[in-house]
Amino acid sequence: YVAKGRSLGVAGYDPRDDVNTRQRLALLGDLRRALSNDELYLVYQPKVSLTDGQVHSAEALLRWRHPERGLVPPDAFIPLAENTGLIGAITKHVLNLALAQARVWTDAGQPLKIAVNTSARNLHDEDFDRVVRGLLTEHGVDAGQLLLEVTESALMADPVRARQLLQSLAAQGVSISIDDFGAGYTSIKQLRSLPISELKVDRSFVQAMEQDAGEELIVRSVIELGRNLGLTTVAEGVETTEALVKLVSFGCDTAQGYVLAKPMPVAEFDRWRADWRGLELISTS
Ligand code: C2E
Ligand code: MG
Ligand code: MG
Ligand code: MG
Repeated sequence: YVAKGRSLGVAGYDPRDDVNTRQRLALLGDLRRALSNDELYLVYQPKVSLTDGQVHSAEALLRWRHPERGLVPPDAFIPLAENTGLIGAITKHVLNLALAQARVWTDAGQPLKIAVNTSARNLHDEDFDRVVRGLLTEHGVDAGQLLLEVTESALMADPVRARQLLQSLAAQGVSISIDDFGAGYTSIKQLRSLPISELKVDRSFVQAMEQDAGEELIVRSVIELGRNLGLTTVAEGVETTEALVKLVSFGCDTAQGYVLAKPMPVAEFDRWRADWRGLELISTS
């Protein structure tokens, strides 16, 4: 395989590559600074139970308020951090913030399970389970209050090692969820061999379900698979009441999405939660 153009000299030179590289490098430098400068913060999106309409958990999602660029979405900087190893420090930072918040909610008599996203690199870091254990102890948070979301692609990068690490985390009492399920290639056999408790149906299927009966079948099948394996099923990216009604009828356990609530900073999340009266469409009347 010959990198097209590159090795052929000037003819293949595209100045846009340099601009992109320079921008990425600049952003990476900024990200290192952001870590120590309090520019990174978490927003929380409730996971709403479709059986009782209540909020038992919330997903922490990372936000970066860049001093010049404004809000930079995670999709623009997480991959960058993953490619450079900075993700280890970022995940640790996220865990620190999320567990501190979990402790605040518990102390206020309003405990919530907190879901934190992880990257492939974290699963290959031999120290990761020790880091997690250390932070749980430091913040005085029960392992049972932490759920780690792991994507299929992260698992596939090194399935053997990932399984060992997840087993060690699960043995501590930490819950594991497969995020964006259906978009990758995890086999049912692999799923069964992993110590997971939750399956999140990828948002692309949930959203396509509204227009396309074929996509609806995928959503139903994943929910059924999850149920048959004894896992909690979650639908992410639920944007309409119609989709919510369908998910309830499919037996989906939990939903997340704009139709319920957007990811919110803590103060806003607390207000939203105080006002939340449950889901009318599943009220037991
Ligand atoms: P994810 O973990 O699958 O998170 C779901 C994404 O969907 C979030 O985007 C959320 O804001 C968005 N979302 C929620 N409800 C809806 C909806 O109804 N409609 C639509 N269109 N979108 C919805 P966000 O916050 O931009 O995060 C994107 C991805 O970045 C996440 O996908 C996750 O893979 C990654 N990410 C975010 N925070 C972290 C983090 O702390 N660590 C790591 N490693 N990755 C993170
Ligand atoms: Mg997630
Ligand atoms: Mg997801
Ligand atoms: Mg996603």
